[in-house]
Amino acid sequence: MTILEKASKTYNENFPPVTWFERAIFLSWFCAKPTCKFCYMYSIKSQIKNPKIARRRIESILAEALITKICGWEIGFISAGIASFSITELKEVLDGIFKITGKRQWLNLGVLKEEQIKELLPFIEGVTGTVECVNNRLRNNIVPDKPLDKIEEMFRIADKYNIKKSITIITGLGETMKDYPTLRNLIKKWGIDRINFYRLVPHENTPYKRGPRTNYYTQWIARTRIDYPKLIIIAGSWPDKTNEIPLLLKAGANAITKLPAIKYFGKKPAIEIEEGAKRAGRKFLGTLTKYPDINIDELLSKIDLSNDLKEKIKKIYLKYYKKLASNSATAASCPR
Ligand code: SF4
Repeated sequence: MTILEKASKTYNENFPPVTWFERAIFLSWFCAKPTCKFCYMYSIKSQIKNPKIARRRIESILAEALITKICGWEIGFISAGIASFSITELKEVLDGIFKITGKRQWLNLGVLKEEQIKELLPFIEGVTGTVECVNNRLRNNIVPDKPLDKIEEMFRIADKYNIKKSITIITGLGETMKDYPTLRNLIKKWGIDRINFYRLVPHENTPYKRGPRTNYYTQWIARTRIDYPKLIIIAGSWPDKTNEIPLLLKAGANAITKLPAIKYFGKKPAIEIEEGAKRAGRKFLGTLTKYPDINIDELLSKIDLSNDLKEKIKKIYLKYYKKLASNSATAASCPR
């Protein structure tokens, strides 16, 4: 039996044959420490200036949350440069998202302090430690400002307040499969509930020129699935790599993330995700290709937000809707 077959068998013994899409919601386009060498923010670090300017308006964030609900996507996590929002403002945003989705959220806001976790607790499903790379020698150079001991400290606080823990891993940063046991040990040591795997996407003005091969990316997912049958595994896929979907799912990923889903709604990568799910024997929950027929006024009338905010959300929603609905029509007439 190949490693992929074994991982697939492990998945099927522990989960129903379904999959879905997760969208990360970014609250700001700001990074206080743009020092991670693989990141787009690192490549534009000299242009990053004011955290307040880079942040999004609440109505824009909530309109996006509304679309995730309508399309049946999950929100992967809420991400932001922590310096761009006060805790009171974050609470307002998370409260709005909760009222729209009915769900508590995963946070990816850097290392949170105990007072911050305590304040946001009613809205938190879990916190994310951005491990990125498990090879320590590489890590010290590539991710200099995300020390593992600080992540560990945050996870201890998460345990104290009984919230879940997740980590992110990027494959293709120079690590090899020989580093896998370090990941296996960290998952066990920290009691991780969920892991987001990504493949490196090389950006201009970073030291990276090429991402990993599919086979290498899927090996990390498959080995993790075999060692941790019940762990939630999310796999990132970019628009030019969505032909990998059946393999990511066979390797044991529960769900797919990272595709800029609004931009690509109804287009080839989105179609490939839905078809890839079918080819892997999974039912795709929600839609990336056909915008649901909903009455936005009726939907908003059931959400407990101020009328003024709902009006602002609706205005932004309708701009998104125009794009999504027209791409949806393209998908319907797609000859594939
Ligand atoms: S990965 Fe996050 S912390 Fe690192 S440079 Fe990018 S945005 Fe900043």
